[in-house]
Amino acid sequence: MQVGWSRKVLEHDFRMCARLAVVVLGLWALVGDAVGGELIISGEATQGGLVHGRISPGAQVWYEGRQLRVSQRGEFVIGFGRNESPLTKLDIRYPGGAREQRQLNVAQREYDMQRIDGLPPRKVEPTAKDLVRIRQEAVLIKTARRRDSAHTDFLLGFTWPVVGQISGVYGSQRVLNGKPKRPHYGVDVAARAGTPVAAPASGVVSLVHRDMHFTGGTIIIDHGHGLSSVFSHLSEVHVQERQRVVRGEIIAKVGATGRATGPHLHWGMNWFERRLDPQLLAGPMPMAAKQNNR
Ligand SMILES: [Zn+2]
Repeated sequence: MQVGWSRKVLEHDFRMCARLAVVVLGLWALVGDAVGGELIISGEATQGGLVHGRISPGAQVWYEGRQLRVSQRGEFVIGFGRNESPLTKLDIRYPGGAREQRQLNVAQREYDMQRIDGLPPRKVEPTAKDLVRIRQEAVLIKTARRRDSAHTDFLLGFTWPVVGQISGVYGSQRVLNGKPKRPHYGVDVAARAGTPVAAPASGVVSLVHRDMHFTGGTIIIDHGHGLSSVFSHLSEVHVQERQRVVRGEIIAKVGATGRATGPHLHWGMNWFERRLDPQLLAGPMPMAAKQNNR
């Protein structure tokens, strides 16, 4: 894990005794008396990962130019995309008006690449009608992911929506006949059709679609502050848009709808447009239950 901070202070009228302590406890945390208040960042600053921040209530925080929602208690989150730059910046304005800029090192990952050459050229072009539909569906998904709601359901963490063998990992990419295909933005869990899908964290259902071109039966849950989960290829959907769901609640059933080669759950996570790796957030697949499911 490569995590590090350096600071570039824009105003020099702060006390030179500002303390920094880095605590490494499996995860890492940075605790510091900053220029105008306290800032704590915890989690793994890595591509596809998510960190939690806590700052003096009333402070304003920008990540790479995007102003972040800071809760009344000073909580915020930052998610890192698949190809996030190794060096990113946080701009902070403390309640007293002091400004500070911090640089955040984001650990870089390598992704599974599969090169397949010599494939017979396959012409499966979407029809004009398909294209219209694909574009409309993309707008629905994009709109759901743009939501920046005030609830803080993400604070309690994430659990696996389905327990089973992981059959596809985040970030992997195939290169067919030299042509890179779209990376896999999520994790696939192999499960029998009809297996119940549980909400990995509480939230509000922001999108329900029974039959999207690529993703078939699709649900998006908004967990707050721009964090959302998408579940694809569902055979049944048990929730409605705007419905509040609690962690562990059954929201759907596994299927193979849309473009799927067999029944599995595709679980994707986003922080706004940035694609996160659900495996980093949910942790190891529970072993005992994994065996029961086989
Ligand atoms: Zn998938």
